[in-house]
Amino acid sequence: MSTATLTIDLNAAVANWRALDAMSESETAAVVKADAYGLGADKLGRALARAGARTFFVAVAEEGAALRQALGPGPAILVFSGHMPGDADMIGDLDLIPMINSLDQMIRHVEALPGHPFGIQLDTGMNRLGMEPHEWSALCDIALAQDPVLIMSHLACADMPDHEMNARQLRTFHELTDGLDVARSLSNTGGILMGPDYHFDLTRPGIGLFGGHPYTKARPVVTLDIPVIQCRDLEPGETVGYANGYTADRPTRIATINAGYADGILRAMGPRTGLWADGTILPIAGRISMDLIGVDVTALGQDPKSLQLLGDDQGIDILANAADTIGYEVLTALGARYTRRYLTA
Ligand SMILES: *Cc1c(COP(=O)(O)O)cnc(C)c1O
Repeated sequence: MSTATLTIDLNAAVANWRALDAMSESETAAVVKADAYGLGADKLGRALARAGARTFFVAVAEEGAALRQALGPGPAILVFSGHMPGDADMIGDLDLIPMINSLDQMIRHVEALPGHPFGIQLDTGMNRLGMEPHEWSALCDIALAQDPVLIMSHLACADMPDHEMNARQLRTFHELTDGLDVARSLSNTGGILMGPDYHFDLTRPGIGLFGGHPYTKARPVVTLDIPVIQCRDLEPGETVGYANGYTADRPTRIATINAGYADGILRAMGPRTGLWADGTILPIAGRISMDLIGVDVTALGQDPKSLQLLGDDQGIDILANAADTIGYEVLTALGARYTRRYLTA
């Protein structure tokens, strides 16, 4: 077998969810949009539901429908994009809860599915999703008469706890929701770490479940082992890969491994990234190709069977920094070609 193996430690994700849950008095949900950040919403959803998670968030109704098939009846599944045209059957039949973002969505929802649960999403400054304060004040009484299950907003700068935007959004959220008899939610992972003022009734961690910044104390969840296909010796002056991206300056042993940018290993990370074997980091030699990467394994003194890109020695944020991006993008880019292994207790 020559495809790389992506190992996802469900126990670690559950442990991270429990640790985040222990940081607040609130209920802790789980955000599993984009197939749980690329790691498998069905497997993660079931593991977290077994661990006690009762509320899940997804981006769109289609993701909610797939998650409902995996979880069965019971857990609440809330949809950030709200109620879009064509969603009514999925929302109704599969018992999804749209987070209503606008007057239009509110009308669509109560007309198509009168009496069906919904939540409200408010914009407190991010200007991405949710009702603006003036829209909310016009709609508030009508919406509250229909018993929304939750009112939420989203923080733009929660991974920068000192940013003044956080306090500003918190103040606005209070102004829009204080005194209403409805459960409230404001915090993603970063918001949980900012402390009780931000917790309200329900928290919504996503990246923290998978060991990503800003929850750097989390247990790593993802391991990526890539098989070596071939090793060869280079004389000084010989080159490796497209555009002769690497030139040997000494006798060099190069291993060619079977994964590339088509598997989500971002080309931009190449010059600043190494792979691990036996506690040794080995630099990438030359450009990352679509399906192949050259690695300088000279320091190892022997030919490895496989090299590790992600694991205990090197987490998603190290790769993200090397590619000038964020751990979220590293995770969601992980490709479809890997052999996926899920570790359970
Ligand atoms: C993605 C998302 C979350 C989870 O954010 P993390 O930073 O991954 O914890 C929470 N709420 C909303 C609205 C989101 O879009």
